[in-house]
Amino acid sequence: MELRKSVRPEVLDFKPYTPGLSIDEIRDRYGLNQVIKMASNENPLGTSPVVQEVLARKAGSAFRYAQAGNPALRAALGRFLSVDPEMIVAGNGSDEIIDLLIRIKARPGVDNIVAFCPCFSIYALQAGLCGVELRQAPLGEDMRPDWDGLLALVDEHTALVFVTSPDNPSGYAAPVQELRALQKQLPEQALLVVDEAYIEFADPVENHTVLPLLKNGADLVVLRTFSKMFGLAGLRLGYGIMPAWLADLMLRVRLPFSVNILAEEAGMAVLRDKEFQERTLQVTRQGRTELTRGLEQCNCRVLSSQANFLMFQPPCPADDLFQALLEQGIIIRPLKSYDRPDWLRVSVGNERENRQFLEAVQEVLRGK
Ligand SMILES: *Cc1c(COP(=O)(O)O)cnc(C)c1O
Repeated sequence: MELRKSVRPEVLDFKPYTPGLSIDEIRDRYGLNQVIKMASNENPLGTSPVVQEVLARKAGSAFRYAQAGNPALRAALGRFLSVDPEMIVAGNGSDEIIDLLIRIKARPGVDNIVAFCPCFSIYALQAGLCGVELRQAPLGEDMRPDWDGLLALVDEHTALVFVTSPDNPSGYAAPVQELRALQKQLPEQALLVVDEAYIEFADPVENHTVLPLLKNGADLVVLRTFSKMFGLAGLRLGYGIMPAWLADLMLRVRLPFSVNILAEEAGMAVLRDKEFQERTLQVTRQGRTELTRGLEQCNCRVLSSQANFLMFQPPCPADDLFQALLEQGIIIRPLKSYDRPDWLRVSVGNERENRQFLEAVQEVLRGK
């Protein structure tokens, strides 16, 4: 027991990430044969067939270590984004890049990190684990960002400022001008990190992405992932785009083989698969419109979203609707852990999933 107490307090007090419920769990718990998961913002088309073919073909390379620093993937991403590959670092999900940024930039007990409240939980979890203070400014009405509130928390010890755009769970995407203005007002040592995990779904992307600012020499970091639009959540692949000096430091300290050889191949394959990308966008944008209309017809309040999910407030206790859907084999996301217990988040599914979800919501709310 004495030995256990000697572990770092940040570890003993750590509250782990709460993932969305899994399909197997719910199938077993309620004895169902079909379960629909609309809880984790995964791609409703599944894994691209092109990727499946590449993975099968490359399975025999699994015994090899990946090439250090993933140069082929960085080059492919460089072409895809028209960015110097020296500015790109791939990670085991963008979660790894978030963790690395905090460990590289923020000194425990000295520096602080600033974000909104609620924010993507990984920022808070990794800051806590590293012993770095997290300061959070509340989001405003309908989850809109209050930039002045955020800036008021920044001081000479602020190492990082995290902004998610489009935001999770609201789907709100900040105009690029506002993000540029924010970056200009930060003190020199405070590095702005814009988490663009859902940027591909924004319409149009140009009005929202800060990548052009970075290309023009602004000091900031853009986070992107293969988990959502590119349908590779289970392979774990994300990346950060940042000034080359920072990318160099990050690659030096990153664990050498955190991006595995099959994830790298899959990532390059899906970047080439324009058809999959276009179909994903089309299905998502159409599904987003249909789900919004359907939920509004059921008297739900729906926040306008630029991502592949919707945040909505049902006209009954949110937990009742969440549980009733679960019993019918439809998993969505309660927002208790995001400080919004009266709201729910649903990921845009494919046509069948969206229809079954809306029918189930109608039925539950009729019975209320
Ligand atoms: C899903 C998500 C990520 C990406 O996670 P990966 O580690 O790349 O799977 C990052 N930020 C936000 C806000 C997300 O919702």
